[in-house]
This record gives sequence, C-alpha cells and structure tokens, in this order.
Amino acid sequence: MVTIYTNFNTFPEIPILGTVFSGFGDEYEYTTNNIFRKKNPPPCPKCDNKMVHNGFNLYTKRGMGGIKIGKYHCNSCDENLEEDRSVWEELKTLFLNLLGELYQMLRLNHVAYNAISKLMHLIFPQSKSTIFREFNRVMKNVEIPPLENILMVHYDEQFPKKGRTQKYRLTILDAKTKRPVADELFDKKDPETIKRFLSANLDTSKPLYIVTDFYSSYPSILKEVFGDNLIHQYCLFHLTHFPQVSENFK
Ligand SMILES: [Zn+2]
Repeated sequence: MVTIYTNFNTFPEIPILGTVFSGFGDEYEYTTNNIFRKKNPPPCPKCDNKMVHNGFNLYTKRGMGGIKIGKYHCNSCDENLEEDRSVWEELKTLFLNLLGELYQMLRLNHVAYNAISKLMHLIFPQSKSTIFREFNRVMKNVEIPPLENILMVHYDEQFPKKGRTQKYRLTILDAKTKRPVADELFDKKDPETIKRFLSANLDTSKPLYIVTDFYSSYPSILKEVFGDNLIHQYCLFHLTHFPQVSENFK
C-alpha cells in the first residue's frame, strides 16, 4: 500500500488515491506536494550508488488534471531516472474508455455527435471529431457476431381507424430487402398481443436484430420473446455500419 501524505486540500481525495495506487507496494509514497515516487530512491542503474529525490515531471491531460512523477538523481555519476508512470497511462486509458462507453450509450439512444459534443462541453470538453474517433475506437473492442445469418427486421405500429373503431396494425419489415415479413390488424396492442405477433412470425430461437421506433418502450417485451438471441449491442453495430438504415427508419 502506497503511503499517502495529505494536507487539508488533498484529504478528501484519499479514497480515490487509494484506488489509483492500489497496485503499488509499501515502497511508494504520494507526497503532500502530490509527487508520486519511491520513499527510498533506488540504486543508480549505472554505478549502483544510492540516488536522491530530485523533483518531478508533470504529466497533464487537458480537462482531466495531471500527476507529478518523481525523479531521482545520482550524485556520483550524474545519472537521472524517472519513476514508472504507468499508473498515469492506466488512469488515462480508464478514463477514456469510460468516456467511450458514455458515447456508446448516447449513440444507442440516437444522440447526434454534435449534441454529444455540446453535452460534453459541460463535463469534459471534446470536439465532435474526437467523440467520433473515440466511439469507433471503443466499438472496435465490442465483440459483434457475424451478421450474415442474422435476420434484421424493423418492427412498426400504426393506428388506423376502421369506421369509428380504433385498430392497431403491427408490421415486421425485413430491414435489408424492405419487404414485409408480417403485417396484421389487431383490436388492441397490449404486450400479450405484441408478444404473440412476434413469436408467430419470427424464429425466436435464432439471433435477431430488431429496430423499433419506440425503442425505449419495448425492451422488456422483446427480451421476453427473444431472450439472449436479442442483443442490444447489435444496435450499436447497426448505428456504426448501417447509418443509412438507421436514418430510413427514423
Ligand atoms: Zn550513478
């Protein structure tokens, strides 16, 4: 465990610092001046004499903050050495991955890059192109099953009136061919009706990619009918690789 020296300013940060430095042993310290270094300077890699503490190098990332990485100096042979700064690199990666996940979530909910950039301006300013790049970087790490054998459909509802009676028309379209898979008129459109309609017209035992206009209202129904064969990440795949399909169905 790294010894963390605090003052009144850094005292509230102890839990965070503890997590950040959890992988480092007793030989390290985080000083009141926020320098991360070894308590006892290491032996010189050239002449093996004990080195001395010698200030720090500051590493920063705009908007995120910075860290002071301790330096050591050898008084015998003038060799300089810097403490391992992998902790800083890891922190940056962790943070950027977290942002990437945030972009995924926003894109999944059809938020435009422009709007994400405006939103990020309040949290951690990022340009539209940076967000686009980061989103695609994170997407590369998402395991996406090959799409060839996966049916991609669009589920839609319309509310025509027959005379004075309200009817509900449920439609499943093949997203690639744009041809109807099923199209039926119902007296009501409660969850049971939708479930029966989907089960009757789609193979629920095979992976399926489904697009709905009312995405947020239906996850529980879709999940119940298709179980694990319906994976939300397919939507991200769709948004990344088939933006034109996504646009057509808006
Ligand atoms: Zn030396």
